[in-house]
Amino acid sequence: MHDFQFKNGELYCEDVKVTDVVQSVGTPLYLYSHHTLVDHFTKIKKAFAKINPLICFAMKANDNLAVLKTLADQGAGFDIVSLGELKKALMVNADPKKIVFASVGKTAEEISEAVKIGILFFNVESLPELDEINRVAKAMNKKPQVALRINPDVEAATHAKITTGTLKNKFGIDLTTAKDIMKNRARYPHLDFCGLHVHIGSQILTREPFVKALKKVLGFIETLKAAGIHLKYLDIGGGLAAVYKDEKPQTAQEFADAILPYLEKTGLKIIMEPGRFITANAGIFVTKVLYLKDNGIKKFLIVDGGMNDLIRPALYDAYHEIVPVKRPKTKTKTAKVDVVGPICESGDYFAKERELPQMNQGDLLAIMTAGAYGYVMASNYNVRGRPPEVIVKGNQFEVTKKRETFEDLVRGETIPAFLK
Ligand SMILES: *Cc1c(COP(=O)(O)O)cnc(C)c1O
Repeated sequence: MHDFQFKNGELYCEDVKVTDVVQSVGTPLYLYSHHTLVDHFTKIKKAFAKINPLICFAMKANDNLAVLKTLADQGAGFDIVSLGELKKALMVNADPKKIVFASVGKTAEEISEAVKIGILFFNVESLPELDEINRVAKAMNKKPQVALRINPDVEAATHAKITTGTLKNKFGIDLTTAKDIMKNRARYPHLDFCGLHVHIGSQILTREPFVKALKKVLGFIETLKAAGIHLKYLDIGGGLAAVYKDEKPQTAQEFADAILPYLEKTGLKIIMEPGRFITANAGIFVTKVLYLKDNGIKKFLIVDGGMNDLIRPALYDAYHEIVPVKRPKTKTKTAKVDVVGPICESGDYFAKERELPQMNQGDLLAIMTAGAYGYVMASNYNVRGRPPEVIVKGNQFEVTKKRETFEDLVRGETIPAFLK
């Protein structure tokens, strides 16, 4: 469920008419619902209430400050992957003790800043990274907590570009190496080995891959226990799916029912890192029809948003529901059209052969489920400013990130003296 619904044929976000937002800020734009964000976060929290996990929102899915503040106010922590994300989390007063840091390529600067700030732990993805954190911590005379990210070699049954838990992927540490590291952890006197981490991929519709991965990790925890190695945390990552089309993904409750028995058995404090599940349906991308084109073979709706604004269809062959912001008053004919952007790439489309009602120049379209991996992946390709981000709460809305201007785009760019 989400808060983008039609009333009298007009699309609303909570109690705000989408066309009113467009009148105020223009198109294209991203629009988020505060209530949907809170609702999705609460669903996970309630489903897992029995074990009171720390829910660290994976902020790579959506790092808008209003979104982060909304979730921090609900008690969320953050799963970060860069120093930039760490700084944004601190801008909304996130509790450092609720921040976990993943990424296969942490730099020395990122490590030392995170140690200085006192994050909960690093999710470590390789042997040389352990050496590096140990080295940095030694120089700072600190002993940060680290969790080994285990690669359980499990297929997540999702799109190849968002599967992360097999040994063909760059993520995590294989079980044999992890065992060696834990046995020889005295080699890293400046690291406190506090837990394990596992994240097998994204948009995972069923429980089976999670259960399979968890069973492997549980077996590993038992092996460690037998060797007298006791941990504090188990971070089970993210990956819960959102509804884009007609998928019937497991609900938060079904997910909890499937894995709670395993989690309870560990006796460890559980960390979760949902991203998409919380923000995907809490956001839409609104774009305006510029031109209609019919070449006799195909019909195209050319809109003012492009792949630089929302790259998921181009990058992941992702499906996004597309709806007219105003429903036609009378029943009109529908036609199969390609909804395409202005960018000079054939991959610049939002939908192909999509059945839509007759649209006219100036009409608005809402591209649904755009709140995760949407704006965060936007670029300035074709020297296009990124669209604004707007958040709605009840009957109020506010621009939380302005549309980029041309000055924004050329800031810091100069013509070298030797070319002048
Ligand atoms: C991307 C990512 C997540 C979030 O994944 P979702 O599918 O958006 O829930 C969580 N943890 C890690 C380590 C990630 O890389």
